[in-house]
Amino acid sequence: MKVITSIKEMQQYIMTVKQSGKTVGFVPTMGYLHEGHLTLMNQAKNENDLLAVSIFVNPLQFGPNEDFDSYPRDFERDSQLAEKNGVDVLFHPSTEEMYPTKMSLAAKVHSRIDVLCGRQRNGHFDGVATVLIKLFNIVQPDRAYFGLKDAQQVAVVDGLITDFNFPITLVPVEIVREEDGLAKSSRNVNLTDQERIEAYRLFESLQMAKQAILDGERDPKVIEELIQNHILEHTSGDIDYVEIYRYPELDELTELTGKIIIAIAVKFTNVRLIDNITFDV
Ligand code: AMP
Repeated sequence: MKVITSIKEMQQYIMTVKQSGKTVGFVPTMGYLHEGHLTLMNQAKNENDLLAVSIFVNPLQFGPNEDFDSYPRDFERDSQLAEKNGVDVLFHPSTEEMYPTKMSLAAKVHSRIDVLCGRQRNGHFDGVATVLIKLFNIVQPDRAYFGLKDAQQVAVVDGLITDFNFPITLVPVEIVREEDGLAKSSRNVNLTDQERIEAYRLFESLQMAKQAILDGERDPKVIEELIQNHILEHTSGDIDYVEIYRYPELDELTELTGKIIIAIAVKFTNVRLIDNITFDV
């Protein structure tokens, strides 16, 4: 496995790869790799000639009161995991390499952001879009893999690729979960022991909601309340949001039909967890 920290070197490496006619699959991450990331990597490995992964904790997508400093990092462990999982090239630039000076222009996301995490995390998706424009230009992938764990991110990347004409196929990948149902996340290490025991209730509430809809409930307000009550009753977390939209458009619904997303965010002591399910009604 090749580890590259310089943008120039990465671009040169990718140019040689592309000249030989090979396809490039790309998995952008912020590191502290877990099985969710590895699932994206395995799929990308199977569908492309070369697997490129980036590890970069992007300061632009963290708000002033968010967890940029406490975001978990362990490059040694990550690079071993990457190598074991067939990564061909691991791109690991420093913040100075990616942002040597204040940027003279940056992305501004207009749609699909005034709901869910976008509503509370002002500028978050602008930061995501800005770093992805840079990473797409550096890595020049044929296919880019994103987890539905961050379903709003998938919707925003879909818009980015279309609007900026990147010749890239977006591949959304299903959420990978712990045995008890908790969606895998680098941030789960910041749960207290008691919170970790409770945390599966988030997914349980989504499953209950799905069942109620399959049993005939069509009022989004009733479903939202059902989820809120379940989380309040069984966890010590504070609910940030419980929301239901059409997916991937993220339009409001008055009646549950078509492809929908039910998404939740819950704040625990040191970490805010998100989870969702998407399905056809
Ligand atoms: P992150 O390092 O958290 O930015 O995640 C990098 C990529 O892995 C993103 O596309 C995430 O959506 C995806 N990812 C993170 N956790 C999971 C999970 N539990 N299941 C599937 N994909 C995930």
